[in-house]
Amino acid sequence: MNNYTCTCCGTVGLTEGFVEDAGQSAPGYARWIEGALERGILGGAKRMSRPRRQIEAFRCPKCGHLELFATSAV
Ligand SMILES: [Zn+2]
Repeated sequence: MNNYTCTCCGTVGLTEGFVEDAGQSAPGYARWIEGALERGILGGAKRMSRPRRQIEAFRCPKCGHLELFATSAV
C-alpha cells in the first residue's frame, strides 16, 4: 500500500501496475518518450535517440482512474 491519492475522487492508496504493450516484438510494457509525436513516412512514430522512461500506472480501486508516472530510464 502507498499514500498516492487519486486526483479524480480523492481515494488514498492506489494499486501499483503498468501499461502492457502486447504488440509484436514489443518488450511487454509501454514507454514514455520525450518530445511531441512525429510520424515517419510509413506512419510509425519517430523515436530514434529520444530519451525514454518506463511507465508506472497506479489504479484507483474505487473509480478506476489511472495515475501515470514516467520513472526510471529504460
Ligand atoms: Zn478514484
